Amino acid sequence: MAPNAVVVGGGLAGISAAIMLADQGVAVTLLEARRRLGGRAGSFEDARTGEVLDNCQHVTMAACRVYVELLERLGVADQLAWGTRQTWIEPGGRRSTLRPLPLPGPAAFAPSMVTARFLSFKDKASIARAARLAGRTDRTSLGDLSFLDWLDGTRPTDRAIVRFWDPLIVSACNLAPERVSAEVGLHVVQGAMLGGASEAAIGVPTGPLSDLYEPVAGILEAAGGAVELGARVNAIEPRLVRCADGGEFHGDAVVCALDPAAANRLVSVDGQPPYPGVGFSPILGVHIRYDRPVLDVPHAVLVEGGVQWVFSKAADPNLVHAVVSAADAWVGLGKDEIVRRTVEEIEAYLPRARGAAVEWARPVLERRATFAATAEFQRQRPGAGLFADQGCVLAGDATSTGWPATMEGAVRSGRGAAAVVWLELRSSATGTDNGRRPGPD
Ligand SMILES: Cc1cc2nc3c(=O)[nH]c(=O)nc-3n(C[C@H](O)[C@H](O)[C@H](O)COP(=O)(O)OP(=O)(O)OC[C@H]3O[C@@H](n4cnc5c(N)ncnc54)[C@H](O)[C@@H]3O)c2cc1C
Repeated sequence: MAPNAVVVGGGLAGISAAIMLADQGVAVTLLEARRRLGGRAGSFEDARTGEVLDNCQHVTMAACRVYVELLERLGVADQLAWGTRQTWIEPGGRRSTLRPLPLPGPAAFAPSMVTARFLSFKDKASIARAARLAGRTDRTSLGDLSFLDWLDGTRPTDRAIVRFWDPLIVSACNLAPERVSAEVGLHVVQGAMLGGASEAAIGVPTGPLSDLYEPVAGILEAAGGAVELGARVNAIEPRLVRCADGGEFHGDAVVCALDPAAANRLVSVDGQPPYPGVGFSPILGVHIRYDRPVLDVPHAVLVEGGVQWVFSKAADPNLVHAVVSAADAWVGLGKDEIVRRTVEEIEAYLPRARGAAVEWARPVLERRATFAATAEFQRQRPGAGLFADQGCVLAGDATSTGWPATMEGAVRSGRGAAAVVWLELRSSATGTDNGRRPGPD
């Protein structure tokens, strides 16, 4: 009989673990508490308008190869629109475009940096200094340094910090440069700025994120498995998962692909929660429907803005999505105030928005959007594929993938967990010992 497995959590970590196991002939039951797959990288139906909206616009980069491979496996890679132009808009509306040319490493951005107007010559020289040093730095050797500690050693100008490094690091790591670990910040710099033109392309889904996960159920079913939505798990035991509604699911192996808070409630590692010191950082996304298009590029960075990025899709050009990462300053505000401030800010940067009417706006604040990638938490991240005391294998973006909280990190963690499960299943089938701790029976 084919082996079977239960994967708990239908975010990207769980989806990638489930698909990889199904591709090896394992019958996987994927349990997800919500009514849709995708977790934090998912969509919901807005009760007022009936529209399917994303929790927040998600973007990826060509450097996130494993995420793109998952989309290829799902047959939906063509639902990402790729582009290499980054539009940076200053208050008042003046624009600069950063665009990598097909040159190696940091040279790729150099020509467009020279002509960028939102930075002075001194700012650019300081950024070039930091880029050169970043290229020579082993990011894993930086211990407790924050990204700002590391950057200070490159003599950055204040304007380069506020206008360039802040938006880059905050939007990629969801934490301010003074809080994010130097290792995580440099991972972004080395991938986004130094990887050359082929790594720097930005991919944005053309439709709702949830469309990307539609093929998952079919792939699992073809291998004898299933997706169970609305399945809230309240206990994980060796080879057994119990749901709040009394449902039970048995598997030769179990993967726990929960977000850190849920994993801390349900499983332990050596008697401790798997993510004992985890802190969280919020992200705010505001969907705004105008009566006309106000943004004529797919995305733009608002220089020195409270809102860091704005997005617009060809499929729905009147809809703008504004994103505030590390949104602590917005957490206590009411919805009307959030919308008022966001609309005001967009008007300050996008001249076309000034005469446009807002038809409706929907803010979505995720208080626990991502783990806070501090140096302290970096040291504590448990390995993807580690066995919890409950006999299940851990996955999730907060495991030690080396990546910040990203779709790429989540997919990599799912693959890592699936590889461990697969070895485990194979060794039980052949009676060999793979040397791993199988958890209590
Ligand atoms: C607002 C926002 C914007 C972001 N923007 C980007 C971006 O632009 N690019 C990028 O790469 N990353 C981005 N991220 C990060 C990215 O979304 C996450 O890193 C990734 O999706 C995490 O996947 P995961 O599977 O590890 O966790 P999750 O997506 O949290 O998956 C865990 C799943 O477990 C389910 N679950 C929880 N409890 C139970 C239970 N008891 N029983 C059953 N199921 C349960 C949850 O519903 C969820 O579906 C963003 C995140 C947020 C919140």
